[in-house]
Amino acid sequence: RLLVVGSLNMDLTVTVPRLPECGETVLGGDAARTPGGKGANQAVAARRLGAEVRMVGLVGDDVFGDQLREAIAAEGVDVAGVETAADAATGLAMIMVRSDGENAIAVAPGANAALGPDTARDAAGGGAEKALLLQLEIPVDACEAAAAEARRRGMLVVLNAAPSPRAVDARMARLLRLVDLLIVNEGEAAALYQALRRSPGSGAPGHDGVHDGLHDGVHAGVQDGVQAPGRDGAAVAEALRSLGPDRVVVTLGADGAAGAGPDGTFRVAAFPVTAVDAVGAGDAFCAALAIAVADGTSLPAAARRACAAGALAVTRRGAQGSLPRAADVDALLAG
Ligand code: ADP
Repeated sequence: RLLVVGSLNMDLTVTVPRLPECGETVLGGDAARTPGGKGANQAVAARRLGAEVRMVGLVGDDVFGDQLREAIAAEGVDVAGVETAADAATGLAMIMVRSDGENAIAVAPGANAALGPDTARDAAGGGAEKALLLQLEIPVDACEAAAAEARRRGMLVVLNAAPSPRAVDARMARLLRLVDLLIVNEGEAAALYQALRRSPGSGAPGHDGVHDGLHDGVHAGVQDGVQAPGRDGAAVAEALRSLGPDRVVVTLGADGAAGAGPDGTFRVAAFPVTAVDAVGAGDAFCAALAIAVADGTSLPAAARRACAAGALAVTRRGAQGSLPRAADVDALLAG
């Protein structure tokens, strides 16, 4: 069983021939309205992968809120903890997608921003879940309250630090110290790593530019699918452990993932697939990794399973619609 305390958004997507410049209007194709939000996406991902999932979050008192609750309930997610905020609108993501898949997104957090620490703490204290999965689309103090309570109850605390934290302030630093497993993509890893390097006496490795470091490693660490720890994504993951999390995994898009834990560092190659739409890959990855680690799977094996889930998500369009089922992941892993 898994508890997700996080965001629910309605995604409004318009495909455009090119992204508009400042002050410009571009005519696009039909608009699509689909359920999203990292919290809801990861809750649905986990459910499809076979976990029992309880979602706690806030929607607005409007039609989008009802639609979001219904959409994730239809997937079998327990939505009793998805409440309606009286004075806020449902979270909304305005997404423009260029024909080659590149996108630009603005999010109005709406009701998600109203999720308070008391609600979050009660959520974490009120169930029988083994693990708590958090993202950063709700207030950091709500994440912190949920994480502290979950930890007190012996649950595995998993944080996907997305979207990228702008700074590691005192609250973020406290949250990170409550996290058992941290999952970040390259950009998020870079942001946290820069913050770590800026903090005096951090002991972080001294090479400049995490993006460069990560990129070098992609070519140095994985050749012909051979997994070898490198000084790259894995080294960054290892460095990020000093922020608190015992285990850290960095996702590297089409280059797979790297990680670090008490047993050392590792690299996992991506599964070769025909990429159609990267939306949903990170969410599938996080859900799969959280479930596997909560079930006692070793971190490298869990990351391999998560890479399979991520790969399947990029073969299909959309956020929640593209999320794979456990049987698909098993089949890809079996080759
Ligand atoms: P995010 O979407 O959060 O930036 P990534 O792009 O790193 O996350 O993707 C998450 C995971 O999904 C990767 O670690 C990888 O396992 C898988 N993945 C993403 N893109 C591809 C791809 N083109 N081919 C195969 N696997 C992919």
